[in-house]
Amino acid sequence: MRAALGEIVTRQVRAGAAVPARTCYGTDTALAVVDAAERLRLPVVLLVAPSSAAAATGPKLIRMLRHIADDAAVEVCVQLDHAKDEALIRRGIEAGADSVLADGSHLPPAANAGFVRKVREFAAPLGVMVEAELGSVPGAEDRATAQGADTAGKTDPATVRPFLAASGAQLLACGAGNVHGRYRGVPALDWRLLAAVRDQAGPVPLVLHGASGLPEADLRAAPAAGIGKVNLNTELRTAMLLTIDREIAGCRRPARTC
Ligand SMILES: [Zn+2]
Repeated sequence: MRAALGEIVTRQVRAGAAVPARTCYGTDTALAVVDAAERLRLPVVLLVAPSSAAAATGPKLIRMLRHIADDAAVEVCVQLDHAKDEALIRRGIEAGADSVLADGSHLPPAANAGFVRKVREFAAPLGVMVEAELGSVPGAEDRATAQGADTAGKTDPATVRPFLAASGAQLLACGAGNVHGRYRGVPALDWRLLAAVRDQAGPVPLVLHGASGLPEADLRAAPAAGIGKVNLNTELRTAMLLTIDREIAGCRRPARTC
């Protein structure tokens, strides 16, 4: 069943957990993600990448993911991820996205807050939850490039409270040594920074982007650091591509028909 992201996150945070969010470039991935969530009896978020949403087929994909969410035995939410312009956000919401990351992290903080505030104004009456990103999560969210954690544009805790007041953001993605794509070297999340950001964010849950490659211990520790949602893309895509590669190699063997 489809559910409001705010409700799912609030409940999971109260239970000392976080909601998994997984990038779905197509219905195959979405069906597999929902199947896993149903087996675990846990809520899940289906993320739509900005490249998918901007494609001619974007609205169709969002409508199909909504249908999969409606049909699920667990609570599922469809979120447009890392949308950097208003037109794309309006298009995503029109197609049925339940939530959106209005990503103004490339802008100065005041302009970022203004962008998010504007999205909030037209999204709120439609019941669409708005996530913002302050600081930056390095790496291409749509590509599995390797990034060193040392290049991370970490969130300055001093900017968090004024940003949330000005923007009205309901979820906050932050940079604390996390990167999109693959980690170059050993990932090192800045837990002290995360605690400071959490203290400044008050009731607004934090979002951890770039979870691929983080050790399980980090993921288990994330909820206590104020993380209410964990976004993951690269690990899922890598597993899918390796499986396809293995199957194709199998097809090349003489005795096998595919
Ligand atoms: Zn991200």
